[in-house]
Amino acid sequence: MSRQAVLRIQLPMAKILLVEDNEMNRDMLSRRLERRGYEVVIAVDGQQGVDLAQSAAPDLILMDMSLPVIDGWEATRQLKSMDRMKAVPIIALTAHAMSGDREKALEAGCNDYDTKPIELPRLLGKIEALLGSKPPA
Ligand code: MN
Repeated sequence: MSRQAVLRIQLPMAKILLVEDNEMNRDMLSRRLERRGYEVVIAVDGQQGVDLAQSAAPDLILMDMSLPVIDGWEATRQLKSMDRMKAVPIIALTAHAMSGDREKALEAGCNDYDTKPIELPRLLGKIEALLGSKPPA
């Protein structure tokens, strides 16, 4: 097989579940992630996030912490208590770099933490680090 043929093989796209209630943030971030080659599924509240995490089998979850129905802290705790969801990395997103929020996110079971406004290169670095062998196409 030629080198060019090898380079043309497409890797499977990593699927990211974005749990975010703010429509503007949600649209902007999902568009930018899709442009990078990620498949994005969206939940608009914490309960929908927990449900979709189980049915859509994402490779990684971006979890806003301030959410209706159940908040991101509780959604994360629920997911991390499920054997089949434990291994799915969760990155917490919070609006304020409040002191203690990072510790609180890690305590709830989040694998990493980032603050809004989102700086995409920084967030992509964290996503790629957690996805390891599953890059975008
Ligand atoms: Mn929110």
